[in-house]
Amino acid sequence: MRRIAIINQKGGVGKTTTAVNLAAALSRAGQRVCVLDLDPQAHATTHLGIEPDGKAPSMYDVLIDSKPLSEVRRQVEDHLWLAGSDINLAAAEVELAGVVGREVILRDLLQADEGAFDYVLMDCAPSLGVLTLNALSAATEVFIPLQPHFLALHGMGKLLETTALVAKRINPLLNVTGIIFCLYETSTKLAQEVERDLEGYLEKSRGASVPWNKAQLFQTRIRRNIKLAECPSFGQSIFAYAPTCHGAEDYRALAEEVLAQTPTVMSARVAISSPEPTGERSEPAGYPK
Ligand code: ADP
Ligand code: MG
Repeated sequence: MRRIAIINQKGGVGKTTTAVNLAAALSRAGQRVCVLDLDPQAHATTHLGIEPDGKAPSMYDVLIDSKPLSEVRRQVEDHLWLAGSDINLAAAEVELAGVVGREVILRDLLQADEGAFDYVLMDCAPSLGVLTLNALSAATEVFIPLQPHFLALHGMGKLLETTALVAKRINPLLNVTGIIFCLYETSTKLAQEVERDLEGYLEKSRGASVPWNKAQLFQTRIRRNIKLAECPSFGQSIFAYAPTCHGAEDYRALAEEVLAQTPTVMSARVAISSPEPTGERSEPAGYPK
């Protein structure tokens, strides 16, 4: 079971669009997929056709009352399940403040699902708070959606530092395995410059004992496509809403790349050096700022 957290502390970069449509593409390729909505804004929940009314069991009940995921998730399509969110989840941060082990609640509950799915995709809120920490502790992989404009790499340092800290202190199995360019403008030079900068940075990190030392920049670029912006309000994935548009084409291609990722990429760091839970990691020269 691949457990993938989709994170970026910036909003509007394509996390939810990617979580939903990649999940739909994988499920249509025959994989059993579960989406966990960890954002109180519940956009993934709405996008998958479920009204976040605050009454049905949600990720709030999972994190606060340790409700089993099997009692919270619902099947939304063939091969596709959703454990939804609602606004109650906004209170989780405060309610969990004094709870010992609050970062690993999801990890422990997700263990009961081992084998039930081929993919678990976690859609995270635009913050690095306790909800995102739960995702990073439960995941073995991180995908980072990026919008390739001139501030794209700005803030990525903090994000990568967080994955390194979680890997060191809580979850030694965590690896950044994918970076996805979303909202891509094919005609701009700027996108190509950002691409080059990022490739250069990733190259420098190869061989360092960091969770992103084998991170793959996916070749598929998710182009800006109006249908992708329209389909959430119909509660449909792009494949139900407009199966032949560029957006559907791109997410189908991305799913193929994800399916083709090798176990070496998926468990990169472990193969290079087993992280010491107490030891210091060597950081690569200069995170992107
Ligand atoms: P995040 O979850 O990171 O905040 P979203 O996935 O919600 O970002 O995307 C932000 C907005 O941009 C949403 O309105 C979404 O519909 C739209 N959007 C995302 N990806 C694309 C795309 N490739 N083309 C057009 N609109 C997009
Ligand atoms: Mg979102």
